[in-house]
Amino acid sequence: MNNKVRACEEVGIKSKRIELPIDIDEATVLAEIDRLNADPAVHGVLVQLPLPPQISISRVLERISVDKDVDGFHLYNVGGLLNGTTVFPPCTPYGVQKLLEHEQVQIAGRNVVVVGASNIVGKPVAMMLMQQDATVCICHKLTRDLAMFTLMADILVVAAGVPNLIVPQMVRTGAVVIDVGINRLPDGRVVGDVDFEGVSKKASLISPVPGGVGPMTVTMLLYNTLRSAERTVGIVDNDESRLSGV
Ligand code: NAD
Repeated sequence: MNNKVRACEEVGIKSKRIELPIDIDEATVLAEIDRLNADPAVHGVLVQLPLPPQISISRVLERISVDKDVDGFHLYNVGGLLNGTTVFPPCTPYGVQKLLEHEQVQIAGRNVVVVGASNIVGKPVAMMLMQQDATVCICHKLTRDLAMFTLMADILVVAAGVPNLIVPQMVRTGAVVIDVGINRLPDGRVVGDVDFEGVSKKASLISPVPGGVGPMTVTMLLYNTLRSAERTVGIVDNDESRLSGV
C-alpha cells in the first residue's frame, strides 16, 4: 500500500488512505465505499485485501462502482476479460501484458503457458493473452508433469508463489519468461518463482524479481486511475491492446 501512495505522489495523483479498525462491521465499510463512489473528486477506489473474516470480500468488491474499480476486481470487470470489454483490467496481468507489448513480443499464435490459476493473476492473465489470440494453457498445483506443459511455452508466465519452481530444464530455448512471483526467503532476500540465473541462459527475455512485474503492477494502477479520470471528461479509450481480440 505504501508503494501505491508513494507512486501517486510521484506522478501528481492525490491519494487518500482510509484506515478502518479491524473489528469494523461490513455495513460501515459498504457505507464508506458508497461515499467514495458518490464523490466526483474520486476517480479510483481500491480495497486492500485481505479483509477480516466478518467482512465479505465479494460484497465489498462489488460495491465499488465499476467506473472507479481501478484494481479491476469488480465482477463486471472480471467478466469483461472474457470478451475484451473490461473497463479496467486487473493491474498485475495488465502489467504483464504491457511488458510483453513494450518488448514487442508477438502474442497472436504463440503458445502461452501460465503457471498459477489464481483469480488475481493466473486466470486473468490467461484470459487477456487468449483475447490476443495466443494459445493458452493454465497450470496449477495439481497439474501433473508441469515441465511437459512449460516446455511447450513460447511465453511462460509464472505466478505460483514457489521459489525456484521453474528451473532451466523446464524452459524451451528462446522462450520469453515473465516471473510474477514475489517470495521472501528466510535470509530476507526477495526472489521470484523462476531460477533467474539458470533460466536467463535459455530464455530470450526474462523479467527480474525484484523489479519486473512488481513495479508494473503499481504503474498500471496509476494508468487505470488516469484513464478513469479521463473517462469522466469523455476522453475515449484507445488502448488497442486492452480491447483487441478474437
Ligand atoms: P495464489 O496463492 O492465490 O495462487 C497460486 C497459484 O499457483 C494457484 O493456482 C496454485 O494452484 C498454483 N501453484 C502453487 N504451487 C504450484 C506448483 N508447485 N506448481 C504449479 N502451480 C502451483 O497466489 P497469487 O496471489 O496468484 O500470487 C502468486 C505469486 O505472485 C505470489 O508469489 C505473489 O506474491 C505474486 N504476486 C505478485 C504480484 C506483483 O505485483 N508482482 C501481484 C500479485 C501476486
